[in-house]
Amino acid sequence: MSAAETVTQDELRSGVRDVCARFPDEYWRRIDREEAYPQEFVEALTNAGWLAALIPEEYGGAGLGLADGAVIMEEINRSGANGGACHAQMYIMGTLLRHGSEEQKRHWLPRVASGELRLQAFGVTEPDAGLDTLRIRTRARRDGERYIASGQKIWTSRALQSDLMLLLARTNEPDDEHPRWWGLSTFLVDLREASSEQLRIQPIETMLNHNTTEVFIDGLEIPASHRIGEEGMGFRYILDGMNAERILIAAECIGDGRWFIDRAVSQAKQRVVFNRPIGQNQGVAFPLAWAHARIEAADLMRIRAAERFERGEPCAAEANMAKLLAADASWQAANACLDTYGGFGFAREFDVERKFRETRLYQVAPVTTNMILSFLAQNVLGLPRSY
Ligand SMILES: Cc1cc2nc3c(=O)[nH]c(=O)nc-3n(C[C@H](O)[C@H](O)[C@H](O)COP(=O)(O)OP(=O)(O)OC[C@H]3O[C@@H](n4cnc5c(N)ncnc54)[C@H](O)[C@@H]3O)c2cc1C
Repeated sequence: MSAAETVTQDELRSGVRDVCARFPDEYWRRIDREEAYPQEFVEALTNAGWLAALIPEEYGGAGLGLADGAVIMEEINRSGANGGACHAQMYIMGTLLRHGSEEQKRHWLPRVASGELRLQAFGVTEPDAGLDTLRIRTRARRDGERYIASGQKIWTSRALQSDLMLLLARTNEPDDEHPRWWGLSTFLVDLREASSEQLRIQPIETMLNHNTTEVFIDGLEIPASHRIGEEGMGFRYILDGMNAERILIAAECIGDGRWFIDRAVSQAKQRVVFNRPIGQNQGVAFPLAWAHARIEAADLMRIRAAERFERGEPCAAEANMAKLLAADASWQAANACLDTYGGFGFAREFDVERKFRETRLYQVAPVTTNMILSFLAQNVLGLPRSY
């Protein structure tokens, strides 16, 4: 895909499917078993231009909208792949694009778009600060033309496979003059330049292959020119990116849900028990019909959220509901698919158990279901704050 081309969503879908088709189930099974990073897959997507879809053309990307980016992520997951290997680039890039200086954008974005640099790591969560982001303890102290950062991040996915990490750190202590959220700043850390004393990355073993890590930061020198936006404003910048992130994650869930339904329907037609296909039993068919309806409903909310986002209208409620409904629908579809497969669902060779583990994550990361429900209760329904 050349940057200047305009593509329809059908063309987008078939273009992404073409790339994904080169990476069949066996590939993903091996990557999962070896807990490896799908290097070849990410390179193929990058070379085809899909991971630079949201980068404007003037910076070397395709300049597509969020709805298009969501279609790309949906198709990746629908193919049986896991968007978790590469999705962060689409989210993180937005912080640089919206809040970076022109010089920073010209320096970094074309190299990210071409694949020369990978921007896949996002260091926000800490051992004592998950959802409660304002409690992070990683600090970056200004020292002339640089900052010196120390602290610890956890669950920093793809830190070992990324060249750049967007880091959130406290630069200013809370005071009476600023709002409660003030005092955090965002930095683009060049992981290639950090010494092993200043930055240590430790993989975490998890129930799904997500290449996630702990990052220990000890006196890490960050040039002041790598700070994105104003000092102290980092939390707002992270919040600014959340609607886009929610919509893209919803699309991944919808891709997963459709994968589960496709596989389950095929199995329900083929598998014969008591002399008839199991899909003839309503106990098998109805959960699949429910799952299908839920996926389609979540998809409508995803589309509405993306439309509002692209028109520049407020869309936090829709983006949150899209993520909530899609994560729930994919999980329902996962369970219906596993039940349809019976014992075979637990065998690695059918890929259902792998996708089952992968889709479960969306209930927790990047934001938990409870947090979205709290957001809706408080910000949409006007109920009292619970935290
Ligand atoms: C595989 C994986 C990859 C990840 N990748 C990244 C990454 O790349 N970068 C990054 O920064 N982070 C990443 N995360 C972190 C993820 O975003 C956090 O796990 C998530 O935000 C939840 O934070 P926590 O785990 O600390 O949960 P906690 O904040 O400790 O919450 C624990 C539980 O309590 C519930 N809870 C807490 N307070 C309330 C309340 N007031 N009302 C109702 N329920 C409440 C939560 O919903 C949750 O279920 C990843 C996590 C995982 C598991």
